[in-house]
Amino acid sequence: MSTLTTTTAFTNGVEIPTLGFGTWQVPDGPATYDAVTEALRVGYRHIDTARAYGNEASVARAIADSGIPSEEIFVTTKIPAQLKTYDEAVESIRLSLDKLGRIDLMLIHAPWPWDAIGTDHTEGNAEVWRAMEEAYERGELRAIGVSNFEVEHLTALLGTAKVTPHANQIRFFPGHAQAGVSSFCADRGIVVEAYSPLATGALLGSRELAAVAERYGRTVAQLSIRYVLQKGAVALPKTTTPSRMVENADVDFEISATDMAYLDGLADPTV
Ligand code: NAP
Repeated sequence: MSTLTTTTAFTNGVEIPTLGFGTWQVPDGPATYDAVTEALRVGYRHIDTARAYGNEASVARAIADSGIPSEEIFVTTKIPAQLKTYDEAVESIRLSLDKLGRIDLMLIHAPWPWDAIGTDHTEGNAEVWRAMEEAYERGELRAIGVSNFEVEHLTALLGTAKVTPHANQIRFFPGHAQAGVSSFCADRGIVVEAYSPLATGALLGSRELAAVAERYGRTVAQLSIRYVLQKGAVALPKTTTPSRMVENADVDFEISATDMAYLDGLADPTV
C-alpha cells in the first residue's frame, strides 16, 4: 500500500505522510491506545491528535509500545481553540510536549474559540503564533501551522508572522472542496490537510458517491479519501475499526479528471 509511505514536504523540508490517522472522539485510555496500536500495525505513520481530544497520553503510550522508532511516526497536536494569549500558548506547548515527547506539527486548533465562532482574534492568534515560532526556533516543534483558518485569518496572521504556517488543517471532502483557501495556501507553500474526509460519516450513505465508487470497484470511503489526496491535500480519516483502517489506506488508484470535476460540483450533504 504505497499511499501509507507517500509524503509531502513542508517548506522547511520536513516531510508529512500524506495519509494520517485521526483520533477525534476516540476516548483516552484503551480505545485510543488500541486504535493507534492497530493503525501503526497496519502501517500508518501519521497520527493526528489534539489537546482538546484529551487522548495525547494514550497516543504517546501506543507509539512508545509499538517498537517503531518515534522519529518514524509523525505526530500532530493542537493548541486548544480558546487559548489566545502568549502565556497560555507557552504552557499548552509544554503540556503537550510533556505528554507526547515529540511533536512534528503543532497547530492553532481554530482562529476563534468554539463557543464564539466568527469572532475576531487577530491579536490573540498573533500572540499564540509568536509562542509557537519561539518553540519552533528552539527545535521543540518540527513544524507549525493552523487549522480552520479561512483566507481572512491567514492574511491577518501573515501580517505579523515571521514563519509562514507550514500547514492549514481544514474540513475537506467531496462537496466541500475549499477552493478559495486551498489556492491561497498553494500559492504560499502552505500544505492543506483535509480533516473529516468522510464528513464525519455523513458521506457514507451518498448514492452519488456510491455510483462513482462502484465504477472503480471501490467503497465510498476510498473514493472520498482518494479525492482529497488527488486535490493535493493530506487526508486524515478516522476509524476505530481495524478492517476500515486497511480499507482507508488502500487508495492507490486514479480518479479521472471528469469524475474529479463531478465530485467538485456535488452538494455538501451536511448543509
Ligand atoms: P471522518 O474520518 O470524516 O469519518 C469518521 C467516521 O466514518 C467514523 O464514524 C468512522 O466509523 C467512519 N468510517 C471511517 N472509515 C470508514 C469506512 N471505510 N467505512 C465506513 N465507515 C467508515 O471523521 P472525523 O473524525 O470528523 O475526521 C477525521 C479526523 O480529522 C479526526 O479524527 C481528527 O483527527 C481530524 N479533525 C480535525 C478537526 C479540526 O478542527 N482540526 C475537526 C474534525 C476532525 P468507525 O470509527 O466506527 O469505524
